[in-house]
Formats: sequence, structure tokens, C-alpha cells
Amino acid sequence: MHILVAEDDPSLAEGLCRSLRHAGYAVDCVTNGNEADAALETNEFDLLILDIGLPKKSGLEVLKRLRSRNSAVAVLILTARDSVHDRVSGLDAGADDYLAKPFELAELAARVRALTRRGTAGGSTLITHGALTYDQVGRVARLNNEPLDLSARELRLLETFLQRDGRLVSKDQLVNQLCEWGEEVSSNAIEVYVHRLRKKLEPGDVRIVTVRGLGYSLEKPGTK
Ligand code: CA
Repeated sequence: MHILVAEDDPSLAEGLCRSLRHAGYAVDCVTNGNEADAALETNEFDLLILDIGLPKKSGLEVLKRLRSRNSAVAVLILTARDSVHDRVSGLDAGADDYLAKPFELAELAARVRALTRRGTAGGSTLITHGALTYDQVGRVARLNNEPLDLSARELRLLETFLQRDGRLVSKDQLVNQLCEWGEEVSSNAIEVYVHRLRKKLEPGDVRIVTVRGLGYSLEKPGTK
């Protein structure tokens, strides 16, 4: 799960990023509309948390440009407390949800969980893949009904595979999902994480298959 936070208030941005990272998401932060626009054009995110009142280019304009590129990324807008106008224009421009400032971080976390699980079939919070189940709300993976002990990066890796539902995931996409800007993660490191996750999945019927030169996919039991 890779989240972009676009917020120009330094203390709010810091609090947001810290709590989202603590919850296990990969988070990048930008502080004006131009940076947000550039980041969204060049990277794949699962969720955008977008302040409407951004300098250089308003959040509303960033959102309109994003949707005009046909991006389906989930967008949560942050608006001033009394601005009904901002909320309405934001939702009309393609935001999925909004929060009015000031808000509690616990409420933000709940909205983020709701938005990030919307991408999966039927909005169910539980993904089952053979002997593997994954609870998207609690972020707990179980194999043969036993909880899997996964590092934060292994968990992100597994989430990425499950969300692709057996489709191929390239190494570049994994790097993007696992890393925040400024972090150096080589494709060798990705191989190491995949290797570790593969080991942990061994007792079950789910396999991470290497597609040489292209990437990986999570093989469903009974397919081959
Ligand atoms: Ca602002």
C-alpha cells in the first residue's frame, strides 16, 4: 500500500505521515500542488490524501488533472472545517471521501482502511487465497489458520500480490510498493524479500512464481 500525502501544514503533514507509517503503509509526502501533480504523474499510488488548500496549485486542480488522466487512485480530500463548497467541489471533481479539519487521526485511519480495501471484490475485508487468508482491516495474514509472522516489508509485498489476484507484478512495481522516496532498494533486495516471503508461505498451497525477466505472480492453488 503506497500513499501520497499532499499537505502544506508542516505539523499536520508530519503527524499524518508518522501515523500512517506506524500503521504499516509506505508514505510519501509533498507540500504543494505542483509537487503533488508531478508525483502523481510519475508514480503509482493506492491512495492520495489531498489538502484542498495547497499552495502553487490547489488540491482541487490537482484532483481534476488526476481524473483527466483517467487515474482511478482513491482520493481522500482534507477541507477547511466550514467549507461546504470545498467538499462539494472536491466530491464533484472525483474525490472518494473527505475529512474536515481538524480531525482525529483515528478517524483518518478508519477512512484510509475503508478506501484502501475498496479496490478488492465486493468490499470484503478478508481475502482468501487457498490456505492463505488476509484480513485487510487487522492486516493479519494466516496460513493454515496460523498467524504468519511477517516483517512490515513482507506484509506489503504479500498485500501487493493479493491485490493483483494472481496477475503478474513486475520488480519495478514491487520497488514502488515497498519503498518511499529516498530509500534505496535494489532489485536484489526485492529478490531477498520475495525469497523470505516464499519461505514463510512454504507450509501452505500458495506459491510465488518467478516469471523470468518480467517479475512475479502469486499462484492460486490448483492452477498451473
Ligand atoms: Ca493547506
